[in-house]
Amino acid sequence: MFGNNSANLYFRSSDIAFLTKHKKELIVAPVLEPFLCVKIVQVEGVDTDTFGTFTGEIPRKISQLETARKKARTGMELARTKMGIGSEGSFVTDPHFGVLPWNIEMLVFLDDIHNLEIVGMAEGPARILEKSARSLEEAMGCAEEFGFPRYHMIVRPDSKDSPDFIKNIRTKKQLQTAISHCLEKSRNGVVHIENDLRSFACPSRQDMIRLAAINLLLKMHSFCPQCDTPGYWVMEYKKGLPCRNCQLPTGLARAQVYGCLKCGYKKEVERSDIQSAGPESCSFCNP
Ligand SMILES: [Zn+2]
Ligand SMILES: [Zn+2]
Repeated sequence: MFGNNSANLYFRSSDIAFLTKHKKELIVAPVLEPFLCVKIVQVEGVDTDTFGTFTGEIPRKISQLETARKKARTGMELARTKMGIGSEGSFVTDPHFGVLPWNIEMLVFLDDIHNLEIVGMAEGPARILEKSARSLEEAMGCAEEFGFPRYHMIVRPDSKDSPDFIKNIRTKKQLQTAISHCLEKSRNGVVHIENDLRSFACPSRQDMIRLAAINLLLKMHSFCPQCDTPGYWVMEYKKGLPCRNCQLPTGLARAQVYGCLKCGYKKEVERSDIQSAGPESCSFCNP
């Protein structure tokens, strides 16, 4: 694990606590360990569900960033390490149209040795599927359509608002039993089926957490040119990429501003992937 010569020396040989009971360390460790020469130490002992759940039994009271930060800190205290990672996901509606389900995954890295906080993030369309069914056969069909058993299911009687649900459904037998039970309990003859959003039960979320880990790795590998502190990254985007047709500035990003969290150094970097925007993004050519 400590044999990668291209790894940066900054965090080398450090133990990083990671408080998770949903096996997220299996996603994050293979990304960070070989490139940073660190050891991710999985920490148990605290039920991370007390920080909030998706099924609504325990609402999250503080922001996603605060929650991830708190988990990192708790893990560090339990494992007695100087570094820790906390993970928190959220489901909202997409930032473009506000209608599609959207998944935001955050990984907060805390480092008490260098007094740093670096946040890795990834976001994209979420896979949230739900349907009502009136028979065992129909309900089994829905689950299959939703990707069961790769995606685990949650079953409730009556409707999606029913607080009386069965989760941890990962085998066909468990699914059959849960559906039959909920059909019996149902007052309107309907069962509601949805996919479980916890990371170990939801492969598309695992992919998003992996992207957040890669984002965190890139930031931990990016050093400030002035003070050599890692975490030197894009802080803002400058709009105004010129239109290919009329050369007027559009709403698309023209440059990224990199910044250092420690010394405040900033540098604007023009984007290099494209030099102009299509006329469809131009408010003059396409009002
Ligand atoms: Zn134009
Ligand atoms: Zn700096």
